[in-house]
Amino acid sequence: MVRALLFDLDDTLLDDRGAMADAVLLLRQRHRLAPDIADDVLAEHWDRVGRDLWRRMERGELDLNGQRRERMRRVFDAGLSDNDADALVADYLEAYARSWRLLPGALDLLQATAHLPRAAVTNGHEPQALRKLEHTGIHAHFDVVLTPQRSGTRKPDPRMFRQALDLLGVAPAEAAMIGDNAEADIAPAQALGMATFHLDARESGRRPADALDWIRRRALPVS
Ligand SMILES: [Mg+2]
Repeated sequence: MVRALLFDLDDTLLDDRGAMADAVLLLRQRHRLAPDIADDVLAEHWDRVGRDLWRRMERGELDLNGQRRERMRRVFDAGLSDNDADALVADYLEAYARSWRLLPGALDLLQATAHLPRAAVTNGHEPQALRKLEHTGIHAHFDVVLTPQRSGTRKPDPRMFRQALDLLGVAPAEAAMIGDNAEADIAPAQALGMATFHLDARESGRRPADALDWIRRRALPVS
């Protein structure tokens, strides 16, 4: 029986992919960058480069600013100076923050599970992760918000999951992890003996509303 829930944030509760796409298309329009590339191709390229650089940052090969500059260079112009890249990054981040929104069904999922202890466990940079929670109005849903800065570890390190479980006061077998990343969210939680829901908002049967149905079957009674 599930007595507590751990949630990933980006692309699990927040439409991060959509926010990134909106922001990069606005950036391109404002600065007349890459005018010949179709919207969906640019958004997909931006997403893929971002995920690749994020993995390099997690391996310690780049810091956060280096990763952001490199993304501008790889997508728009390899010859961008640090200053020009930083100006684009600042503009992008502003547009990105204004595009933050929840995935369809995410608010219902949180409201319907309000009787359970819940933790947000994210690899996002803490100041930004907290701003996302505030901006989307869901901060109050979490008893615990765990980021790499607070934890000293990052997913998929099982210690980060254990910390969240300890803070909620439950054993792994009493908790479920809901996340979109097979490596970072699902595999380590399963290895600890937690129940898992591998969410993918783009796929029928794996959306936030499906996660709620899944939780309802495992954590009775649910409103
Ligand atoms: Mg995620």
